[in-house]
Amino acid sequence: MKGLMMHRPLKIADLITFAAENYPSGEIVSVRTEGDIHRTTYRETAKRVAQLAHGLKKIGVQEGDRVATLAWNGYRHFELYYGISGIGAVCHTINPRLSAEQMIYIVNHAEDRLLFVDLTFVPIIEKLREHLPAELRVVVMTDRAHMPQTSLADVLCYEEILEGEPEDIVWPDFPEDQAAGLCYTSGTTGHPKGTLYTHRSTVLHAFNMCVTIPKTLCEGTRILPVVPLFHVNAWGLPYGAPLSGASLIFPGGALDGKSIFALMDQEKVFSAWGVPTVWLGLMNEITQRGRLPDGFGDVVVGGSAAPRSLIEAFEAKGVNVCHAWGMTEMSPLGTQCNLPPELKKLPFDERLDRKQSQGRRVFGVEMKIVDDEGNKLANDGKASGHLYVRGNTVTSGYFENPEASKTVFDEDGWFCTGDVAAIDPDGFLKITDRSKDLIKSGGEWISSLDLENIVMSHPGVASCAVIAVPDPKWDERPFLIVQAKGDAQPQKEELIDLLAERVAKWQLPDEVVFVDALPLTATGKVSKLTLRKTYAEGNE
Ligand code: ADP
Repeated sequence: MKGLMMHRPLKIADLITFAAENYPSGEIVSVRTEGDIHRTTYRETAKRVAQLAHGLKKIGVQEGDRVATLAWNGYRHFELYYGISGIGAVCHTINPRLSAEQMIYIVNHAEDRLLFVDLTFVPIIEKLREHLPAELRVVVMTDRAHMPQTSLADVLCYEEILEGEPEDIVWPDFPEDQAAGLCYTSGTTGHPKGTLYTHRSTVLHAFNMCVTIPKTLCEGTRILPVVPLFHVNAWGLPYGAPLSGASLIFPGGALDGKSIFALMDQEKVFSAWGVPTVWLGLMNEITQRGRLPDGFGDVVVGGSAAPRSLIEAFEAKGVNVCHAWGMTEMSPLGTQCNLPPELKKLPFDERLDRKQSQGRRVFGVEMKIVDDEGNKLANDGKASGHLYVRGNTVTSGYFENPEASKTVFDEDGWFCTGDVAAIDPDGFLKITDRSKDLIKSGGEWISSLDLENIVMSHPGVASCAVIAVPDPKWDERPFLIVQAKGDAQPQKEELIDLLAERVAKWQLPDEVVFVDALPLTATGKVSKLTLRKTYAEGNE
């Protein structure tokens, strides 16, 4: 028997309307590319979102059109998230750190009609223009006074699109599975692949994160998304924050430890979200200054595994670390590791053991691990296998890419994450590696993450990576690449001795090299692909 309740489509625009009514003074603070700090509220933002929506329609944007953004974290980018999806078009966020070739590919593949760019990125588009669709129009995200001199033809000005438009709007109705957002994964192999979010998946993701991380996402907290809005819905914050009444502090383009510290201090940021590399930078600044930024109490770290030493450094200073795991294809949140009350009482070291795991699933995401033949493995904390997920916030196929879509689902429709993991009886997930980063030596697996974690605990190491290099006898052997901290000069023997205390002899890297800086991917993670190209290929 069917229930008898109304069915109203879940729509993204309802989140900002809700925030404007319920948390009118909730703030959005942005470091602008123009150089100053801009402050606004959810109430004012809802008005500008309405103006933007009217303006977009006026310049011909229609339901289903892809409208791209190439921008830092700031209020205009936030407005675009809502204005574009609100009228039924698709907000396609582009990562400016992608290679020219990848950017050209995705703008053409997505068939973007409009492209909104921050001042900083205008030169990138000038260079790529001839390779982008001829009908693509560019809008610079600034006001008339700051419009740049540019070789681009027919350029529009963001503020002029909003100017004079009504500050309220009746949002159109459409089915809740209407496409709302598009984000391509960086694509370590082959072309980038697009995940096409729906209104339903996005709103449900916002609910899921608010109920799972309630102490951070609540009225009055101040949250700093260092994770860029061009990366996986900036982990859901542009939706979860307005839904919960938390304020957003957008850092613009300066993401070094010093700038982040200063902004957090000034804006009394409570919770900061980003990849481990950013927090290593902030921790350096904290150590140098001998204090935390004012009001700072919580850090959400994900995108790649948070080293134990990083978790320890924050926790020892009284900052709660929430280790989170997810993927572009999952909107992105899969698990989070805030500890339940009974585990918070554990001794410090045991607490760190728990926090080092990626934590428990968020509502709506199911997980399973399977062996090479697809047999389900036990959640006993020991068996490690291929991690599969399913749920309302997980992709059901890549955008216009049936070939890639074919390879990522099992017969029951679960999505293969490409991660290798164990799940313990309490539901805590421990990522062992990306499948492609595991090292197979003499038929046995070695986890690069385990080795990296140990090396990171050396005080002279800023960052490191372990990759597999081909070996005629053992198939593959681990190879360690290290970036030293400041003037420190950690020695190969010290690092091997440190590892030897914790892992079996056959797991020890054969080679250690020191580099000035580890290469990073477009999303700020250490690029093992680049390292493999440098150190592993042709090494037989
Ligand atoms: P990309 O960075 O390639 O664009 P994603 O951001 O979607 O793509 O990356 C998702 C992958 O990042 C996951 O499958 C996993 O391997 C890794 N990852 C994300 N969070 C964590 C974490 N907390 N610990 C370990 N690995 C993580």
